[in-house]
Amino acid sequence: MPKKTLLSGWGRHPTVESRVSRPEKRVTLQSLIEQNGAPVLARGAGRSYGDASLLNNEGTTLLTDRLDRMLAFDPDTGVLRAEAGVRLREILEVFVPQGWFVPVTPGTKEVTLGGALAFDIHGKNHHRDGGISNFVHEIELLTADGKIRTCSPDQNGKLFWATVSGAGLTGIITEVALELRPIETAYVAERTLKADDLDDAFALFEEHEPDYLYSVAWIDCLASGGSLGRSHLMFGHHAEPNELSAKQRQDPLGYEPDHLASLPFDLPEGILNEHTVKAFNKLYYARQRKRDKRAVVGIDPFFYPLDAISDWNRMYGESGFVQFQCVLPMEESYDGLKEILAEVQESGLASFLAVLKRMGPPDGGLLTFPMRGYTLALDIPRREGLEDLLRDLHETVARREGRVYLAKDAYLRPETFRDMYPALEEWLEVKRRVDPKNRFTSAQAQRLGIEP
Ligand SMILES: Cc1cc2nc3c(=O)[nH]c(=O)nc-3n(C[C@H](O)[C@H](O)[C@H](O)COP(=O)(O)OP(=O)(O)OC[C@H]3O[C@@H](n4cnc5c(N)ncnc54)[C@H](O)[C@@H]3O)c2cc1C
Repeated sequence: MPKKTLLSGWGRHPTVESRVSRPEKRVTLQSLIEQNGAPVLARGAGRSYGDASLLNNEGTTLLTDRLDRMLAFDPDTGVLRAEAGVRLREILEVFVPQGWFVPVTPGTKEVTLGGALAFDIHGKNHHRDGGISNFVHEIELLTADGKIRTCSPDQNGKLFWATVSGAGLTGIITEVALELRPIETAYVAERTLKADDLDDAFALFEEHEPDYLYSVAWIDCLASGGSLGRSHLMFGHHAEPNELSAKQRQDPLGYEPDHLASLPFDLPEGILNEHTVKAFNKLYYARQRKRDKRAVVGIDPFFYPLDAISDWNRMYGESGFVQFQCVLPMEESYDGLKEILAEVQESGLASFLAVLKRMGPPDGGLLTFPMRGYTLALDIPRREGLEDLLRDLHETVARREGRVYLAKDAYLRPETFRDMYPALEEWLEVKRRVDPKNRFTSAQAQRLGIEP
């Protein structure tokens, strides 16, 4: 029997009263789909920031956290078969000590396989490897007619590419066969370089990125004038045993996940203002004195620094926050980023250090987000003026032929969305075929006018 509860995404806005059900078996999931014609939506770990995992209580939100079994693993190929509610954290805990890592990871390990595929997530290795779909051999998809379909690039290919990046709107992914990455140690050889401004950051990315599997930068988006775009660039690769210290070498694959601290209450809203955030960013930038620093660090501090505090989203207070993430084509990136950073600064809406990364070409999903160019992600607290700022930012991105990432979004408008996702019509053809009555929908899909 579905229960009513209040749900929101990671940004804590919007909050929607939802009817939820937590099936434990695939057959229960199937019968929930067959029972009546009301709308349904899968929800994984709720780590998308906006309204992608939300559905109002006219329908049922299907929580996948009990569909979390690992089913089979082939050590010859590295292919893991698991239910879609398994989180990356669980995969890491089992497989890192055996010499395997997830092939693509976002900045948190608390996402499910289903959620990861629904947005074809990208990681710090996007410039080399593309999105997670490149490592998926096949998925099992429960569609609106109650049937389970096996989909892969070779089998039901169109449906596969509409589901990967399809934001949960083609059906429910029940199982995933994912190829893991072999590793020799549970450590990353990291190199951090300081960039004084945006020119410097672009030059350093260009020079060093080809040598590393992973790359990302933390950019101080409140630094202005001659310091605009100052950042810390981080490059890394999985360390080989001979790169470890004597202590690390005693147990090269030892993986002890960071102990989680939690933020037990919401911080008062005024605490994050332009002055406190500016001071924090300045301190963070000054923390590393050397321009070039090398270290061999654990998986958690390299990939998941934010996971060390379990509810860090409460830092923004009850009103929550928005993460704005866009990607701009390479030829627009330099001027576009300058324009965006200036717009954020002018608005006075403070943002902590933001993330900057160079992306590789688009992936195969019909609603793929990446494109060759730079992506910028920044958190903005929900305060007066936010909607005006986001409208301006979205217009800037659209004018420069870039895209806003739907996994983070809660404010994009239908017209701007259509401009940014040129394969939408092709995607809709698949949607009309597999879900003509629009059973699978979400608050985000309704806001963006996505229907067959
Ligand atoms: C701190 C942080 C860092 C992040 N860093 C990155 C990053 O570096 N790169 C990146 O790409 N993303 C990043 N993200 C975003 C995150 O990876 C995605 O939003 C991901 O979709 C979240 O997975 P989830 O399991 O929480 O899914 P949810 O948020 O619960 O759902 C997201 C979407 O997936 C759909 N969905 C969930 N399960 C299924 C299923 N079984 N079948 C079909 N559809 C399903 C939902 O309907 C919804 O549309 C980050 C998020 C956080 C909080």
